[in-house]
Amino acid sequence: MNSANDPILLTPGPLTTSSRTREAMLRDWGSWDAAFNRMTHSVCAELVNIVHGETDYVCVPLQGSGTFAVEAAIGTLVPRQGCVLVPNNGAYCARLIRILQRMGLAYVELALREDQPVSAAAVEDAFNRDSRISHVALVHLETSAGLLNPLDDIAAVCQRHGRRLIVDAMSSFGALPIDLRQSGIDALISASGKCLEGVPGMGFVIVRRSELEQSEGRSPSLALDLHDQYVYMQKTTQWRFTPPTHVVAALREALDQFMAEGGQPARGARYTRNCATLVSGMKALGFEPFLQAEVQAPVIVTFHAPRDPAWNFAHFYSAVRDEGYVLYPGKLTQVETFRVGCIGAIDADDLRNAVAAIDRTLVRLGIRVR
Ligand SMILES: *Cc1c(COP(=O)(O)O)cnc(C)c1O
Repeated sequence: MNSANDPILLTPGPLTTSSRTREAMLRDWGSWDAAFNRMTHSVCAELVNIVHGETDYVCVPLQGSGTFAVEAAIGTLVPRQGCVLVPNNGAYCARLIRILQRMGLAYVELALREDQPVSAAAVEDAFNRDSRISHVALVHLETSAGLLNPLDDIAAVCQRHGRRLIVDAMSSFGALPIDLRQSGIDALISASGKCLEGVPGMGFVIVRRSELEQSEGRSPSLALDLHDQYVYMQKTTQWRFTPPTHVVAALREALDQFMAEGGQPARGARYTRNCATLVSGMKALGFEPFLQAEVQAPVIVTFHAPRDPAWNFAHFYSAVRDEGYVLYPGKLTQVETFRVGCIGAIDADDLRNAVAAIDRTLVRLGIRVR
């Protein structure tokens, strides 16, 4: 699917995009151009529809990588006197905590292992122990291991206890089912360059309109103030500050392909086939996935590194890169691992070929997996 000499990115963003998506960037747009601003509007409307937020939610786009949108959501939506519960099972949860620390907001960490999803019971327990907790910040799909947290269960508990829920759905949005209707989710954060298969450069927050309207003047940051961005856009149809024009154009094109493919169910099904092909091929080579199959999301798979002293990830990476496939280092704190993504404009054949390239590389480098 990729053009001849570019390697296929088996990484969770930036990822391999289609040539149509890349070609959509071959034109310059002015920020006053009404056609460009209509494009932004149509992108935002479609993003809200993907998660069924039609009536009560709005989409606020934001320049930057996904973390900018996470930081903007926390800074805009959590009041100064709030207290945020963070279930922590990986590096992106830890990043949420660092954001809260920087902002001087109170938080409670719910520490978990990197292979252990958070349970609704543990969240409910935390609510009962600590009445200060006003919000939960949940990472839906912890990309560090590829772990899926049970969003619907957590949302139901938050709703029952009247706590606000902010979800980092960065690497699940578009691939896994998310339904905002009667959900208890107040804000959902993702970005252009993950499962929507756009290019990186734009984050977005889909937020309950009533929550956003209460947040005027709260953000400690000017550039990351979602309320200000939203109000300015409503008033002028334009982005506040220079828009990532080419990124928006690529995302518009990527969304057309997303719809033509069959939307979230079809995208999720393709990634599931990719993941199954990858895991069965790697197991046949002797590699062990880090996660149990029940909690493995079909987005990125963590494998244990071989114990062979000949193993060196940097060497292995560049040898596989020479074969045309880009892998990803592990991001776990305790065990040595590496990761292979299954998302992007790739299909099961690409994953089959990638496993064959990994097999050839192991032989060439003399690495024994078992
Ligand atoms: C990619 C990702 C982010 C954003 O990371 P950036 O480096 O800013 O793109 C946040 N959370 C999760 C779960 C992610 O996968």
